[in-house]
Amino acid sequence: MRGVTLLGLPTDSNSSYLRGAAAAPAAIRAALRSGASNMTAENGVDVGAPGFILDAGDVALTEGPADVDLISAAIRRERKGGRRVLSLGGDHSVTYPILRAIGESGGRPALLHFDAHPDLYDQFEGNRLSHACPFARIMEEGLVTRLVQVGIRTLNAHQDAQARRFGVEIVHMRDFRPDSVPIPEGPLYISIDLDALDPACAPGVSHMEPGGLSVRELLAVLGRVSGPIIGADVVELNPSRDVGDMTATVAAKLVKELAGRMGLGEV
Ligand code: MN
Ligand code: MN
Repeated sequence: MRGVTLLGLPTDSNSSYLRGAAAAPAAIRAALRSGASNMTAENGVDVGAPGFILDAGDVALTEGPADVDLISAAIRRERKGGRRVLSLGGDHSVTYPILRAIGESGGRPALLHFDAHPDLYDQFEGNRLSHACPFARIMEEGLVTRLVQVGIRTLNAHQDAQARRFGVEIVHMRDFRPDSVPIPEGPLYISIDLDALDPACAPGVSHMEPGGLSVRELLAVLGRVSGPIIGADVVELNPSRDVGDMTATVAAKLVKELAGRMGLGEV
């Protein structure tokens, strides 16, 4: 089955510092549909072809404890029939309920995660569902076969201990080269926190962390993926911090490139 389902997850109640990511799905859609670019990905796939992207709209979230189950239920529903879902955050807390739903359907992908932050806290400010924690929950529940993190440049002692405990494979930003990233074989889930990128090219995030990836470096890693991408998310755009829609445009570019790779082949 060709094509990708887009699903908006407008939530920022598990953010730890600034709100604003709940407004991201609308901003990414606007950038994607802007006349500034066409809809052909760099691999030649026209993701604007009729029916290639099905937009399932935004999930009606409550900004309360019910949202974990609401997100999982929406992913379960949209994956029926083998559809691959590309989710638009929202803050990074959404990745845990997404992968929980994928796990319930018997899928156990490897996980490729781009971020300035490892998001491995056991809890953050008393919140185990904080956007600083999703990869701890995912690893505790064994929802993925491997976790490879790329762009990390904020590893503190607690998260270093968590990474060792869970066997996380970290590509530190200080050591980054596109060809140094281990690309897991087989079905892959890709999670892109936009703050993995350098704030010079993606300033519209809540946690700017200088010294990050260029858009081209991130795309170079994606270009090395050969296995099927069974799902993905682009998270942590904060439109209230953006400069001239730069970061929304980068998010839309990543959506286009992910869709161009995800939407091909059989599930
Ligand atoms: Mn981050
Ligand atoms: Mn993150």
